[in-house]
Amino acid sequence: MRIAVDRTLCDGFGLCVVHAPETFSADEWGYVSLAAGDTVAPEHQTGVRRALLDCPVHAIVELDAQGRPPRRPRTRPVASGERAEPAADANA
Ligand code: SF4
Repeated sequence: MRIAVDRTLCDGFGLCVVHAPETFSADEWGYVSLAAGDTVAPEHQTGVRRALLDCPVHAIVELDAQGRPPRRPRTRPVASGERAEPAADANA
């Protein structure tokens, strides 16, 4: 398992450090970096998955086999009272 943290999204809540302290380290303001690189040892993956799911700003992503982050669906602007639907060219 490989992961990345987008430090521009991180708000320093610190949940990832609580769940996986061997993987994430926080600076003096609470913003995290990867303590031991982007590869997560099998014995630490459960905590990292909890961190990935609990991060309130989705700053942690699991990388694919080629080391790329997942594609996020694009949505078109939504008019008031309308449901958001993925754009026709999502992931194009
Ligand atoms: S849980 Fe998310 S927002 Fe909080 S410190 Fe970790 S990466 Fe940053």
